[in-house]
Amino acid sequence: MTSSPHDTTTAARLLIVGPQGSGKGTQGERIADAFGIPAISTGDLFRAAIAADSDLGAQVKAVIEAGDLVSDELTFEVVRERLEDAGGGFLLDGFPRNLSQVELLDDYLAERDEPLTGVIELGVPRAVSIERLTERARQQGRTDDTEEVIANRLAIYERETAPILEVYGRRGLVDTVDGVGSIDAITGRILEALQRRGIAPRAAA
Ligand code: AMP
Repeated sequence: MTSSPHDTTTAARLLIVGPQGSGKGTQGERIADAFGIPAISTGDLFRAAIAADSDLGAQVKAVIEAGDLVSDELTFEVVRERLEDAGGGFLLDGFPRNLSQVELLDDYLAERDEPLTGVIELGVPRAVSIERLTERARQQGRTDDTEEVIANRLAIYERETAPILEVYGRRGLVDTVDGVGSIDAITGRILEALQRRGIAPRAAA
């Protein structure tokens, strides 16, 4: 670890959480870039595996197309592999997605003695999520962006993912950021919230 006497910032070990269509993928990448840390998106990793026709892709394709969740074990295997290489911080997007995944991540990070330092919740009204997802379906033709699958994914979010915010909230880790506005404005809000926690991108030397 390199740290100087002037280095008082907290390491960026972050989660970004929000319903489908909240813009968490876009914001996650921007925040990760600002900190020079990897954005680890389980959805992107799965989609890449499907596109590459890999064994993993074959295992997850049908589940993803139905908008259901991949098994916790398989998902965590993919995440752990990425975290192993992420010594200087990370931003997780799309994981953990339920309470058992919270436990898997807790155990892993406790072993490393590197707890999470911040959880960003991107808040958007349901109608805005649906509008954005429908637009993305039109532009990108994602097979899990059909109306029926979108409804399933949002229901899973409310049932399984929203409760993880209560757990992290009790630990005092959550900042809820308004996810409606320009992309730049939302990035600014997230950076401000992190700054208040002492998590700031390193100034150029
Ligand atoms: P996303 O791009 O984050 O919406 O993820 C797309 C799809 O990948 C989800 O609808 C799930 O089928 C799968 N997926 C992504 N992350 C996870 C996770 N943490 N646990 C289980 N399945 C996941």
